[in-house]
Amino acid sequence: MIAPRRLVLIGHPVAHSFSPTIQNAALRAALIPLEYTACDVASGELSTALHHLIIENSAGNVTIPHKQAIVSLCNKLTPIAQRAGAVNTFWTASGELVGDNTDVAGFDVAARSLLETNGRPLPRRITLLGAGGAASAIALATEGWPSARVTVWSRTAARMDELAQRFGHVRVATDLPGALADAELVINATPIGLESDDFPVETGALPPESVVMDLVYRQRETAWVHAARRSGHPAADGLTMLVEQAALAFQRWFGFEPDRAAMWRSVR
Ligand code: NAP
Repeated sequence: MIAPRRLVLIGHPVAHSFSPTIQNAALRAALIPLEYTACDVASGELSTALHHLIIENSAGNVTIPHKQAIVSLCNKLTPIAQRAGAVNTFWTASGELVGDNTDVAGFDVAARSLLETNGRPLPRRITLLGAGGAASAIALATEGWPSARVTVWSRTAARMDELAQRFGHVRVATDLPGALADAELVINATPIGLESDDFPVETGALPPESVVMDLVYRQRETAWVHAARRSGHPAADGLTMLVEQAALAFQRWFGFEPDRAAMWRSVR
């Protein structure tokens, strides 16, 4: 147990995040007298913000756009964060900043749950839309799935190439139709749909049998998940992953499992 004195979420933007709601529900259920707060930190301010957080013996989470930028600012990384090349959970130990990644296990639990609920085996052909921190966590999680092959498609070629260089089971698509061909599982790891009803890809372009997973979550299911379900695709938004990665982060900070039911009640 590291007994943090302050718990924060740092990101930009952070106002949309459910993390304070979920973590505060877990803190109340565990009778821990701390408040988890969201802290809007622009990219140019990350280093200074972390310096203050270390002095205050803080712990917390990291969200867009800092998950990869924080890696080089940590004094230590857990093996999973090192391999993912992204940090979503941190704490202070003996004045040092330690970075971890609970998105990897959070994604794994959420994806397996969606597939099992719909009677689907672990897929071999996965399409990943986006090539940022969350995509990197997904690449690492799916590396452990038997025979999984991930095809990545995003708007910045350099980030796709970097992902494919780091993970042997990831390849870069040459276009969107090519990325989607034969996919059994299509994952949105971009923020598209967070602040609008835009789709990362039209539902008509999805392979008929594919399962749809959106990492984005909102008060109600995302427009993309809603449309995919109406077209007959098993689909889920990012809530299960969010609760799982949050529960695992809590466990890292306090050394025991939080009350997941209380966390779920807070978002429902
Ligand atoms: P990130 O590191 O900033 O990466 C975002 C990726 O999406 C990049 O490849 C980026 O491309 C692409 N992108 C951004 N805006 C786009 C747009 N308008 N059109 C097309 N592509 C766009 O962010 P992240 O940490 O990976 O997070 C991605 C999303 O997943 C966020 O919405 C985040 O909230 C969500 N997420 C959810 C959970 C959960 O627990 N449910 C966990 C992690 C992340 P460029 O490289 O060109 O910018």
